[in-house]
Amino acid sequence: MTKTVGIIGAGIGGLSLSIRLANLGFKVTVFEKNSYPGGKLSELILDGFRFDKGPSLFTMPSLIDELTTLQSSSHKFEYQKLDVITNYFYSDGTQLKASANLDEFAEEVHIKLNEKKETVLKHIKRNAFYFKTTEDLFLKQSLHQVKNFINLKTLKGILLSPFLGLFSTMHQKNEQAFSNPKTVQLFDRYATYNGSNPYKAPALINMISHLEFNLGAYFPKNGMHQITTHLVKLAEEANVTIKYDAPVETLNIESDNLIKSIKSNNINYPFDIIASDLDIHALYKYLLPTSFTPKKLIQQEKSSSAYVFYWGINKEFSQLGLHNILFSDDYKKEFDNLFSKQFPTDDPTIYINITSKYCKNDAPEGCENWFVMVNVPHNKNQNIDYSTTLRENIVKKINTMLKTDIEKHIVTESTLSPIDIERQTSSVGGSLYGNSSNNKFAAFLRHANFSSKIKNLYLVGGSVHPGGGIPLCLFSAKITSELIADREKK
Ligand SMILES: Cc1cc2nc3c(=O)[nH]c(=O)nc-3n(C[C@H](O)[C@H](O)[C@H](O)COP(=O)(O)OP(=O)(O)OC[C@H]3O[C@@H](n4cnc5c(N)ncnc54)[C@H](O)[C@@H]3O)c2cc1C
Repeated sequence: MTKTVGIIGAGIGGLSLSIRLANLGFKVTVFEKNSYPGGKLSELILDGFRFDKGPSLFTMPSLIDELTTLQSSSHKFEYQKLDVITNYFYSDGTQLKASANLDEFAEEVHIKLNEKKETVLKHIKRNAFYFKTTEDLFLKQSLHQVKNFINLKTLKGILLSPFLGLFSTMHQKNEQAFSNPKTVQLFDRYATYNGSNPYKAPALINMISHLEFNLGAYFPKNGMHQITTHLVKLAEEANVTIKYDAPVETLNIESDNLIKSIKSNNINYPFDIIASDLDIHALYKYLLPTSFTPKKLIQQEKSSSAYVFYWGINKEFSQLGLHNILFSDDYKKEFDNLFSKQFPTDDPTIYINITSKYCKNDAPEGCENWFVMVNVPHNKNQNIDYSTTLRENIVKKINTMLKTDIEKHIVTESTLSPIDIERQTSSVGGSLYGNSSNNKFAAFLRHANFSSKIKNLYLVGGSVHPGGGIPLCLFSAKITSELIADREKK
């Protein structure tokens, strides 16, 4: 008989898991508390401007293509490779264009930051080695099953582990490699791609730069939100039922180790298998009795959150591209503030994403849609004054670095705070990527893709193995679907 699966949450993790399981012959229903899909990957339409609300950097599109080909869908998901990945601005006036062409990028770093071209190429090569050595071990399988430790690829990863930068931090390795602190800052920034601190996260995380420079950064036609739209289309084609405005309120546990049904809007829905796409904190806090809580995991340091201003701008800025970074002067202080003091610094690094550079319909003629984001700590009721102090610091910095009076050009505004992120997606304190990677064992300390206490409960998404961010959520769906197929499809 066909087995039934109830998935909690229609984020990227939940949607991609639903597609994989439906293609394996399971009957799948997804419960989403919001009236829209995508969780963090949703969109905002505001006074003629369109914004992607959360993620803006897209790597490894082949993981989406894999889902499309799984069911030979004719629904198109189109994207283009970026020629220039990021425009970097430093407060002394230095500007650097990070070209997607590695040779051009190394040449630019040589000209602007006086590093040897070969040093840059060698650094990216080592970061590629980190990725290639660990991808089979970390990204493509459950780390929590003994049988996965007895295969050749895993053994190779383990044998090479002394060379994987686990014993120095990202910053230490970057500082060893480069002479100019600006280059070090540029490479330290990759820690923020999973909400971590470069002064604490292991050098292994430097592998993220390999994804951008060797595998490429991309932009989906019509914006990031098309990822969600496409996954929903694939799920519907595969006969997945998605219930919106359907918060899961209770998981009815039959005996100590089996969930019998899901309660949503006061109706009990029986399922053979349950999968959760929620932040693990929300799962254990709201849906399971406290005796199931894995206390050590829950107490781990969280990844950072973000504060975002969505600004409609009535002007075009030719010096800006799709991804732009305005660096702070004191990166160490910025991360100390984020993770130790738990307060944003007064000189934050500012990220500006402008999709209307690629997608003209995202802003009216002659205008731009600015997604202005700074990293902030996840919410612990610190009483941070975002709307005046943080906003003033951001405006001041943009005015100085881009030589403008930005306030004059803002014609519409909306914001996203850590509290909003928690309210909209249930991620604890609005942390973006689950637990941080601020220690060398972070990869091992993520929650497994299955529950060790409840036999028919599986987990997917950014707070479980292998981690947060779109590509890792897609990897987690693959791992979880393989686990379910292996254990349940008897
Ligand atoms: C501002 C911001 C910027 C980011 N930038 C990037 C980036 O550039 N690149 C990148 O790769 N990643 C980025 N990320 C991270 C990325 O968005 C996430 O890692 C990813 O989208 C997480 O997907 P998920 O499926 O794990 O969870 P979520 O997107 O959090 O989805 C969980 C879903 O579960 C639903 N839910 C919660 N509780 C219940 C319940 N009780 N019942 C039913 N449904 C429930 C929620 O409504 C939500 O839809 C960013 C995130 C944010 C917020």
